[in-house]
Amino acid sequence: MGWLSDIGNAVSSAAGAVGDAVEGVVDTVTDTVEDVVDTVVDGVQDGLGWANGWLCRNAGNIGCRIGNVVLGGISGLLEGVQDIVDKALDIVNDVGGLLGALLRGDLAGFIGKLGDIILNAVELVINIVRFVTLGTLIGGIRDAWQAEDLRRFVEQLVNERFASNPPQLARVRGRLGLNDVSWGLPLAATHKVFRLDSATAPLWQWHQDERLDLYAMAGLISFDSFNIRRKRTMVRVTNADGTIESSLPINRWSLAHYIDSNGAEGRIRVYALTPDAVKDFVQVTIAKFKKLGIKLNWNDGGRFEYFARNTVHDISTLEEFNFDRRQLGQYLLSSGLRTDPSSEQCNMLALASFGLVEGLGQTAGRNIREGSNATPCNNTPERNDSCCISVNFRTGSGVIYHDEWPVNIFRYVLAHEGGHYVGLCHFGHDGFQNIMFTPEESAGLSYADWGLFRYYLDNEPGFTLDDGKNVWRFLVAEMARCLDEPGADSGPVIL
Ligand SMILES: [Zn+2]
Repeated sequence: MGWLSDIGNAVSSAAGAVGDAVEGVVDTVTDTVEDVVDTVVDGVQDGLGWANGWLCRNAGNIGCRIGNVVLGGISGLLEGVQDIVDKALDIVNDVGGLLGALLRGDLAGFIGKLGDIILNAVELVINIVRFVTLGTLIGGIRDAWQAEDLRRFVEQLVNERFASNPPQLARVRGRLGLNDVSWGLPLAATHKVFRLDSATAPLWQWHQDERLDLYAMAGLISFDSFNIRRKRTMVRVTNADGTIESSLPINRWSLAHYIDSNGAEGRIRVYALTPDAVKDFVQVTIAKFKKLGIKLNWNDGGRFEYFARNTVHDISTLEEFNFDRRQLGQYLLSSGLRTDPSSEQCNMLALASFGLVEGLGQTAGRNIREGSNATPCNNTPERNDSCCISVNFRTGSGVIYHDEWPVNIFRYVLAHEGGHYVGLCHFGHDGFQNIMFTPEESAGLSYADWGLFRYYLDNEPGFTLDDGKNVWRFLVAEMARCLDEPGADSGPVIL
């Protein structure tokens, strides 16, 4: 019967090639337009922010606040337009994915994409209503106002914290741009995608044992599982020694031959995330962290990088494939991902895993106490969020997360874990409008909250001004070295 399935796989591969082509073209076009729109709007917003900063430094408090209202309002309107255009492009992109899935015979993927289209259409309507009823305008004014509040807060905090060491204070102020018009902590961040290679892991065996479904992970027609909540994984074929990897999606023919030959024919690699998904997560964190006064500088996930290969972390065991998040701190050390607990703090490491035994994500290297357990809090007694967080230098620091469908809800997971990394906890973050909200029952948070009104202004979950202040209380206490010039002698790190 081998020849019969060969014919089936060949037909499926031919139709799939058309599907891949359609999806690829639509993807490239929408990505390019979206990148252009986002870059232009961000550029204009940065300009408005700069002008606002200049007014606040030079035009007195009244001039500053008038600037917040006028320039912040314009910035908010622009963002409203950007939200609408981006959402419309997302829908076009989803339609491309829908057609691709259909041509590959991937019914589960097709239904998943249909769900994405419906969710994005609902969000598009909400975005239009927000724009027309001036929600984005008011949101922009509030953002500009709060950005100035945070700047004043941070300036005072830094001046107090480093008062005893004038040269260090000067360095920190310079690095944060507190002497200039625009400010923020430049924080490096490294993203790594988990990758499996058939040369080091018996993927065909795992497939036959139903530990995973390679066809589904490749977005191909699968008779082994039917999961519409598909993660954005990717399968690629390489040459025998792994030096050349195809940039095209694998077809059913190649994958079937690898599996049916018990791994003897062909070599494949499986990625936990596609480059598009990496970019999505990374860009969300950059946008969200701006509100904390932190400028994330990622190694991957930039705009206009269509042919870039993502940085990977190769794994080869089922334990790593189904990661136990409680082991993260230890794993970071034992796998060599982290070696120097003190200086590594200034580069946030994020791992995109295939999945976790339970939960959406995890942050390691932070001692987190919250609620009634948060007091006394010796390192940051002035925190006002019933959280107490310190760096745990005995283990590796970093975050791990995984993709989850639907994207509209779960694209904030990396930003959430990053929030823990820079010193936030769950307590008090009721409501989905908070990035630090968690649906985990142990946290005891409710989905809805009066603050949901903020969702109308923000459109998306976000960090609050209080989050920003508490992050900076944590940073000056626990990550002061990262505020200083790299290589400067910032004094001893307390272990
Ligand atoms: Zn959390």
